[in-house]
Amino acid sequence: MIKPCIQDFTREELGQLIKPAFRAKQIYSWVYHKYVTSFDEMKNLPQSLKEELKVNYRIEPLQIIKVEDSLDGSRKYLFKMADGNTVEAVLLLMKKEQYHEDGSMKHQAKYTVCISCQVGCKVGCSFCLTAKSGFLRDLTAGEIVEQIRIIKRENNIDANRRLNIVYMGMGEPLDNLKAVVQSSKVFSDLDGMAIASHRQTISTSGLSSKITKLGKMELGVNLAISLHAVDDALREELMPINKAYNIKSIIDAVKAFPVNDRKRVMFEYLVIKDVNDDIGAAKKLLSLLNGIKAKVNLIYFNPYGGTQFKRPEPKDMIEFQHYLTTRGLHCTIRESKGLDISAACGQLRDNELEES
Ligand code: SAH
Ligand code: SF4
Repeated sequence: MIKPCIQDFTREELGQLIKPAFRAKQIYSWVYHKYVTSFDEMKNLPQSLKEELKVNYRIEPLQIIKVEDSLDGSRKYLFKMADGNTVEAVLLLMKKEQYHEDGSMKHQAKYTVCISCQVGCKVGCSFCLTAKSGFLRDLTAGEIVEQIRIIKRENNIDANRRLNIVYMGMGEPLDNLKAVVQSSKVFSDLDGMAIASHRQTISTSGLSSKITKLGKMELGVNLAISLHAVDDALREELMPINKAYNIKSIIDAVKAFPVNDRKRVMFEYLVIKDVNDDIGAAKKLLSLLNGIKAKVNLIYFNPYGGTQFKRPEPKDMIEFQHYLTTRGLHCTIRESKGLDISAACGQLRDNELEES
């Protein structure tokens, strides 16, 4: 039996498990502020408690087995878990730090970390490499949390530096809702990493009933919908889950989702050459999102060996974007961060499996 790990628990839960409860706050500080890797390092805990913790909990659920650097500053990690399964996460440098001429800091670097929540995925989208390996298992909350902790530690990112988290790595977050919600609570704890829920974005292929469930929890997280197609027939081809949850059901669930006043629901639209890159699609997208506080993120399809799909032409991407923005819809094109490494999630792990 693999022991639970400390990062599986919210501070309140730890306070129930470990007496006296104030120890939970101290443990949180060691784990999330000082990035310790052993209970022995928790100097202000009594020896008896350290021994108790060692017997009952783990503190290092992931090991780094591969790191790949990209020219644009993003860095991809492949982690191995206790059972030998692997998952990946990516540190994205969104903005480099900048200095004034006198050498003083103008602004700090801005980071976003993309994390995984499952080994593989059940959803089976035809364009996605993660889907190819099928579904192996859900990650625990601690395994999700640890991806951020390791990346912060390895990159000397100060404990109180703000960063953004996107659940856009391997797996479908709403198919592992319990652990994902738990991890979100751990991330936002002010005595831990203090990554506010409005800095967290959960991306889903559109499990409408779970979107509703997540919304009712009022966590304050942002929602991203992987839409990718504007009519059900094409969406079913790309994403078989559309048979269970069609476009209308997703739009209805989004309309009821609580959105932070300053935020919008993000609609991800993976653009595939000659499949969904025409202006007719842009037109339908515009009417579909009518009345929703939405923003669209166009993503270049990132090809990999064995796929029939192709990367779109930049001019078509720009035309698509232009159509939407000139009609008042917020629309960005996702920079192909990390294109020289294995960019889209699932691709580093796949390379590794082929090599081994
Ligand atoms: N399962 C969730 C979150 C993980 S996928 C979801 O689907 O939203 C994260 C994003 O990566 C999705 O928008 C997905 O469409 C995109 N993606 C998958 N394969 C890709 C590829 N080959 N190139 C570019 N993006 C890809
Ligand atoms: Fe799963 Fe998302 Fe990949 Fe679809 S795109 S198979 S939902 S990880």
